[in-house]
Amino acid sequence: DPYVADDARYASMPYARSGRSGLLLPRISLGLWQNFGGHHPLDNQRAILLAAFDMGITHYDLANNYGPPPGSAEANFGGFLARDLKPYRDELIISTKAGYHMWPGPYGDWGSRKYILGSLDQSLRRMGLDYVDVFYHHRPDPDTPIEESMMALDQAVRSGKALYAGISNYGPAETEEAARILRELGTPLLIHQFRYSMYERTPEDGLLDALDAVGAGSIVFSPLAQGMLTDRYLHGIPDGSRITHSQFLHENQVTETYLERTRALDAIAKERGQTLAQLALQWVLRGGRVTSALVGASSVSQLRANVEALSFPDLTDEEVAAIEPHAVH
Ligand code: NDP
Repeated sequence: DPYVADDARYASMPYARSGRSGLLLPRISLGLWQNFGGHHPLDNQRAILLAAFDMGITHYDLANNYGPPPGSAEANFGGFLARDLKPYRDELIISTKAGYHMWPGPYGDWGSRKYILGSLDQSLRRMGLDYVDVFYHHRPDPDTPIEESMMALDQAVRSGKALYAGISNYGPAETEEAARILRELGTPLLIHQFRYSMYERTPEDGLLDALDAVGAGSIVFSPLAQGMLTDRYLHGIPDGSRITHSQFLHENQVTETYLERTRALDAIAKERGQTLAQLALQWVLRGGRVTSALVGASSVSQLRANVEALSFPDLTDEEVAAIEPHAVH
């Protein structure tokens, strides 16, 4: 059936400003890393993407290599854009990235101008777009001058193929340097994308401060630790769960220590009348330092439950303190 967006799509989603920019992002955004590739049923992908937009999730996050196989998430997303979402293009923030291995030879990886700009053209073709809203350098390249990678992002914006520039997985000092270079070039750093959750605290050691200092926004990936910060693995490994099909999550991570920690956090969530996933999302968004939490979802019901996290009362200082002994340091 032809898709018509829900008239009430902006009724409840809160939006936050990305650093010192003009751009507002939904507090929960949707990532297409794992569940939108060639091996996942297209009807489920479509249902999740359209339900997201109906809930006010205006931001879809992609990368050149998302799949598997690499490129298939962008190609599938392009299909849903053409079929369903094109009329709403001006209501959407679509991001993509280049930085990990994408094609053979010396020009299909890392951070050269050759790779970054070639990859952006490929991404636009796969998605059938004239421009993306945010274009990221996906990881720092220790062998390419940071100026070259940042000049490629600046060029992407100047050429109209991207509206804003972002970086991902850069450390605090590299972030400050990238932001300084981009500012001098006239394309301010919009946002940084990094891993952050109760089980991944590294950004508290300088990165969040660096982002405040340079005025960039922050969008965090794997806020649910790929499902480990939910009740998904508390009673075994369910069929079809990420552990059963992803090379990035393994059964041996479900240790006794993990289970103890996660049961304790699950109990705190239950006292609040919510799920652990909802608690984990409120935790990364606490205090307003994080612009948006970028979740993955393998079903509409997971995504709906995650968005419902935003309707619970904020965590109190006492609750944050009670979580602390069970979080990872
Ligand atoms: P999450 O931590 O949100 O993990 C998502 C997974 O958690 C889902 O696939 C699902 O697992 C499980 N899950 C989600 N909601 C629930 C729920 N309510 N109850 C139970 N289980 C749930 O994030 P991702 O690791 O998927 O990352 C999100 C996005 O971040 C990516 O899509 C990508 O856009 C971005 N990212 C960026 C990276 C970078 O280097 N810049 C790296 C990694 C991600 P299951 O499939 O088992 O149902």
